[in-house]
Amino acid sequence: MNGDQIFNSINNIKIIINNHKDEIEKLDQEIGDGDHIFNILRGLDELQNLKNELLDKTVDHIFKQLGMKIMTTVGGSSGALFATLLIGMSKKYNPELNDLNNLSQMFSEGVESMKKRGKADLGEKTMLDVLIPVSNSLMEQKNEKNLEKVANKLNNIAKDGMMSTKDIIATKGRASFLGERAKGHIDPGARSSQLAIEAICNQFINN
Ligand code: ADP
Ligand code: MG
Repeated sequence: MNGDQIFNSINNIKIIINNHKDEIEKLDQEIGDGDHIFNILRGLDELQNLKNELLDKTVDHIFKQLGMKIMTTVGGSSGALFATLLIGMSKKYNPELNDLNNLSQMFSEGVESMKKRGKADLGEKTMLDVLIPVSNSLMEQKNEKNLEKVANKLNNIAKDGMMSTKDIIATKGRASFLGERAKGHIDPGARSSQLAIEAICNQFINN
């Protein structure tokens, strides 16, 4: 893992999110307040702007700075939560481990920090319905040598998690104010998280 790969992934996430921006905006208009796509795109712009400053720095330093930037510039629940994810990830970086194992430990720590920060867990109709299953699967596959296989599996798990939010009644976030009325709608944060994972997985899938 290095700065080039991290900033390359950020670019790919930005492209896929941009390609789905109307859809994400609509999802948050339906069960939230409509600002989710704005928060996400603002955050990605801020991260891209840090490229020259951080490219040559160590992976833990990069993740920490990315998280701090999001924390201080992006609004909404998703700003605080994604910042917490990145800062959590920075804490577990270990240059002795291979990339997949490292990423598994880092992501797991990031998702655990996010759960604590938002006092939320699986099945509450949030982005955690994507991120928790992905984190668990990543950990199970941490020693797999075939990265395309890992990427395909994570991609599918993220999609299943995102789709699962459709029929849940929200117990966290703005959608929880709607009760039964949020049923039938996919959670916007789950969709943007799933797309980000798809962007990263696609880097390892040779179509
Ligand atoms: P806000 O809800 O403050 O307007 P955003 O629109 O940017 O913030 O983000 C909304 C998304 O944040 C939701 O779709 C959901 O996935 C996620 N979310 C909200 N609250 C929580 C929480 N406590 N834990 C995890 N994710 C949450
Ligand atoms: Mg919102």
